Amino acid sequence: MIAPFNDFGLTEQQKLIRENVLGLVRRVLPDDKIRALDAAGEFPFEAFAALAEAGWMGLPYAAEHGGMGGSAKDLAVFVEAVAEHYSSLASAWLTTTIYAGKHIELFGTPEQRARFLPGVIAGRTRLALALSEPEAGSDAASIRTRAELRDGRYVVTGQKLYITCAHVAHHLVTVVKTDPGAGRRGISILIVDADAKGVTVRPMETLGRRTTRACEVFFDGVEVALDRRIGPENGAWRNLVRCLNLERLCLAAAGAGNLRHVLAYALDYAQGRKAFGRTITEYQAVSHKLADIRIMAETARLCAYRAAEMLDAGLEPDLETSIAKVVATDNDFRGADLGLQIMGGAGYTMAHDMQRMFRDSRVGTIGGGSNEIQRNIIARLIGA
Ligand SMILES: Cc1cc2nc3c(=O)[nH]c(=O)nc-3n(C[C@H](O)[C@H](O)[C@H](O)COP(=O)(O)OP(=O)(O)OC[C@H]3O[C@@H](n4cnc5c(N)ncnc54)[C@H](O)[C@@H]3O)c2cc1C
Repeated sequence: MIAPFNDFGLTEQQKLIRENVLGLVRRVLPDDKIRALDAAGEFPFEAFAALAEAGWMGLPYAAEHGGMGGSAKDLAVFVEAVAEHYSSLASAWLTTTIYAGKHIELFGTPEQRARFLPGVIAGRTRLALALSEPEAGSDAASIRTRAELRDGRYVVTGQKLYITCAHVAHHLVTVVKTDPGAGRRGISILIVDADAKGVTVRPMETLGRRTTRACEVFFDGVEVALDRRIGPENGAWRNLVRCLNLERLCLAAAGAGNLRHVLAYALDYAQGRKAFGRTITEYQAVSHKLADIRIMAETARLCAYRAAEMLDAGLEPDLETSIAKVVATDNDFRGADLGLQIMGGAGYTMAHDMQRMFRDSRVGTIGGGSNEIQRNIIARLIGA
């Protein structure tokens, strides 16, 4: 039995979010289904639909846009709970509703909101955010995908890389260069239909997150109507930056959630495993590892919650969201590594879920602005 995490500081409603979401995802996506989806590299359609059916796609959107008007802390609690069951399901939810969908809500026209958000909230419309390219990952402003204005339309040509869920997306919120010589001041965002002529999507083989496939996306002369541009032409960089705090917060909450699962799984295994006539938790080398995972999980969620509370207070916690992202994702991977070690050979086999949690945790320090980039930001903000 795992000593419960203290829910001090959560409202009654947030406790209910956690309880309801965990109950739902455990029911609709039992562990054997996750194993099958992971092995086949298939998107969790049923669980995604169940989250929508229960109204959870609307959590991050304002009531006037048809959503539930959830706070940043509500989001953190929700994402942590989903990721505690299955982190890739959190990734599926985040990709549509936050990484791509928030651009439409925050910077789209009333017509764009009316056209796309009802489908997102109902679970009919899936989105992906297409920013990274072969020559532009951390240095995102150096993207080369070009959108040229021709005969009253944009014509998009270029390549994106590692685009989560592009293979199941209906629309790609695509970051393009509309003025290639102007650096950050030449960037725009377009909503491109994934089935438009000239779009090719190829899922890649990856270590983890196998159900929310990272994809290559090719644009070969893709025509996009002008009214599919989100925000001003050449003015998208500022909007991308404005979304960063919420994105980092969600990545931190997802890391914290996965780590809770790691802890429960490792503890359960260790308590049932004997070596040299004793349960292995009697060896301090093992029990200290479990204590360390608990410490890591606790610090990860506290950093995420604090950043969320600051966002809800209307502050701009650039430093705190970067810290939360680094702490939670570093802890997630290091904790999963410890969890695997605690299980010995069993942890290394595909017969147990620890290997999946280990694999799924690995991308946390790379994606969403790598942890090196977060440390650059933190160093700059503290004047180092
Ligand atoms: C599974 C997965 C899913 C993803 N999903 C998406 C998605 O949905 N949409 C999207 O647009 N992108 C997505 N990405 C891309 C992701 O955002 C990039 O991988 C990430 O930004 C790093 O870019 P890169 O891989 O090109 O690495 P690079 O930028 O080439 O960096 C390589 C290494 O150098 C380090 N580095 C680079 N510059 C600096 C610096 N200035 N200081 C210190 N260290 C530095 C990096 O931290 C890293 O360790 C995804 C990636 C993965 C792996």
